[in-house]
Amino acid sequence: MGRLLIIGCGGVAGVAIHKCCQNSKTFSEICIASRTKEKCDALKEKLQGTTDTVITTAKVDADNVDELIALIRDYKPDAVLNVALPYQDLTIMDACLACKVDYIDTANYEPEDTDDPAWRAIYEKRCKEAGFTAYFDYSWQWAYQKRFTDAGITALLGSGFDPGVTSVFTAYALKHYFDEIEYIDILDCNGGDHGYPFATNFNPEINLREVSANGSYWEDGHWVETKPMEIKREYNFPQVGEKDMYLLHHEEIESLAKNVPGVKRIRFFMTFGQSYLTHMQCLEDVGMLSTSPIQYEGREIVPIQFLKALLPDPASLGPRTVGKTNIGCIFTGKKDGKEKTIYIYNVCDHQECYREVGSQAISYTTGVPAMIGAALVVDKVWDKDGVFNIEEFDPDPFMDMLNQYGLPWVVDENPKTVA
Ligand code: NDP
Repeated sequence: MGRLLIIGCGGVAGVAIHKCCQNSKTFSEICIASRTKEKCDALKEKLQGTTDTVITTAKVDADNVDELIALIRDYKPDAVLNVALPYQDLTIMDACLACKVDYIDTANYEPEDTDDPAWRAIYEKRCKEAGFTAYFDYSWQWAYQKRFTDAGITALLGSGFDPGVTSVFTAYALKHYFDEIEYIDILDCNGGDHGYPFATNFNPEINLREVSANGSYWEDGHWVETKPMEIKREYNFPQVGEKDMYLLHHEEIESLAKNVPGVKRIRFFMTFGQSYLTHMQCLEDVGMLSTSPIQYEGREIVPIQFLKALLPDPASLGPRTVGKTNIGCIFTGKKDGKEKTIYIYNVCDHQECYREVGSQAISYTTGVPAMIGAALVVDKVWDKDGVFNIEEFDPDPFMDMLNQYGLPWVVDENPKTVA
């Protein structure tokens, strides 16, 4: 019996909300609050009558802390699930602190305006000191540790798939298969085809920022940075087949480097087809990925936001996407003095997701773990005061719920490794 306030009503939120409604024992009541209330009302209309969960909706600007506080005080939730954008992480955390309510998200903070001089000064110092140049990092949210501890509330960071499930796979491997993990390769393969020449599977602005940035990996206690798409490998993914994949910077590397004792190297690879990369390169070359405002016919526009308006809405890709995703981690380490390697992964079928909840597998693989993380916090199965990445909790109940809620996983004890 719990009340969850869900902020955001896009692709990922849509799946998380469907899944909350399948888990009415935990989520007896939910409130869907977002910038565009009509989307929340439409989802409520679709779901009520199919679930015991009582659904209400609200309009909120999650950039505005006072509005968030007013909504939280009015609705009195047990926890707030942030499935809006990473831009809103800090304002929502501030509101949760003011109201002493638990917080869950799926992506670490990044600023909307990367030209903001105050943010830029801190960012440039971090690039020099830490050695990676991604716009997003955990320092902003880890800085809330003492305030969340003092308030006696939990912040659960990164409850999506990657970060999220991949981080829980790591905690599970460490708990059940290894004394020590030395090497982690996180492999994110989307073998799906939506039939468009170019589209992104989740929010285009966040997605294109991530994949057009420098790559990086963690090795021997420090970051090694690469040019975008500089490191390419091929891998034969179970149930998907042979794919090209490229090394990216990814946020869970930062927390796993801190939370996996003795780890020597962590890398993240994502599959891309040549057509996607050629389109992206062209858009970047002409300035369409820029986040800096420009003047156009007397008004200010941000190129990447204009591009977002042109691209298909990721939430609309569901009916046309066919194929499967395969996301997981290959771990190499030691057990009882012997070296061993295992691969834990999930395979998810785009069309099966569409039939179940009306969305493609990328939103599905993020929305399901968002619900599971929120359920474990609301049910107080995961109950620690402070700010924690998901791998810092007991992985077993989460792994059980993945099987129960549509993301079954496989442990391969004799996998092919990545060179
Ligand atoms: P969408 O763009 O589809 O949805 C974002 C939602 O947030 C929209 O409903 C939008 O409202 C709402 N929103 C944006 N700004 C505000 C605001 N200021 N106030 C209130 N609501 C706001 O994004 P996705 O669903 O694709 O992604 C959601 C989150 O999931 C992102 O943080 C993304 O980074 C993360 N993610 C995490 C993954 C993981 O594996 N960990 C994988 C994929 C995504 P409106 O409808 O008005 O635009």
